[in-house]
Amino acid sequence: MIPLDYHMHTTFSEDGADSMEAMCQRAIELSVPEIGFSEHWDVGPYEKNPRFFQPESWFTELNRLRDLLADQLIIRAGIEVAEPHLYPNETAEILTHNPFDYVFGSVHFVGRNFVFDEANFRAQSADDVYKSYFTELELMIKTADIDIVAHFDIPARTGKPIFGYDPARYETQIRSILGMIIKRNLALEVNAGGLRKASKNLMPDPLILKWYAGMGGERLTLGSDAHAADQVGLHLDTALEAVRAAGFSHLTQFMRRTGYQIPI
Ligand SMILES: [Zn+2]
Ligand SMILES: [Zn+2]
Repeated sequence: MIPLDYHMHTTFSEDGADSMEAMCQRAIELSVPEIGFSEHWDVGPYEKNPRFFQPESWFTELNRLRDLLADQLIIRAGIEVAEPHLYPNETAEILTHNPFDYVFGSVHFVGRNFVFDEANFRAQSADDVYKSYFTELELMIKTADIDIVAHFDIPARTGKPIFGYDPARYETQIRSILGMIIKRNLALEVNAGGLRKASKNLMPDPLILKWYAGMGGERLTLGSDAHAADQVGLHLDTALEAVRAAGFSHLTQFMRRTGYQIPI
């Protein structure tokens, strides 16, 4: 059984294909008992559609579905904030007035470089791409108002097919970041979105999950990063296997920005 899927985008995100209701129905079909929507809150200067997300109508629809599906599905209210450390005021603006259950912090841009733009990868070395990304990620984790670190090593999704990805080369930097996640009591997302791409990578890489476990990390969530109903829960069985193989016995459930450990 897949206990939860916390990373899902609907048509309330500019890149989402399906309605919230369709994604709920898919979760029920798959017997996933708990899901969370996490639309994009993008405000940076290089975003194509900044401030696309409309929290008021989103919460209205989410609460309608919570009532309608109350006996079949637990629905959490999440949000995915891009580079929250760079936009603290805009982040506070969305978080202050809305009752979110959890906040993902994501790095999608390193400077002006978008982490999915192949041209950026072809113009740089693997070390340049990964090191500069981890440096940005570290800044975010140090200061941002977040609960969960989304898709820890996302550049690998585009970079792996181009020039490979060997997390062991960045072990010192990665361990320092994991230490900060533990110190701040944040959770690490295990994101299966890369498993449906050419890169076929789980994020974080299973080696990083093992380091996190060895360092005493305990907080973890699962996410398919679904942008369509048929991607809900997809490859989370593989993600769960990697979580167990790394030695974890719990996942973290979030309610009103507080985490609770649940056994798996
Ligand atoms: Zn993301
Ligand atoms: Zn996302």
